[in-house]
Amino acid sequence: MAVPKRKTSKAAKRKRRTHKKLQIPGMTACPQCGEFKLSHRVCPSCGYYDGKQVTE
Ligand SMILES: [Zn+2]
Repeated sequence: MAVPKRKTSKAAKRKRRTHKKLQIPGMTACPQCGEFKLSHRVCPSCGYYDGKQVTE
């Protein structure tokens, strides 16, 4: 098995991870109330989905 000649430095490791997502995936702002909600789910804050109110 190949062995890395040098370990990845702390700076290189941190630079690589700057591209990692900061937010939870699948979270989008609700077009109705602006709250963060899971995409393809009814908004738990205002009960809207696809421009229509589906729950109270
Ligand atoms: Zn909403």
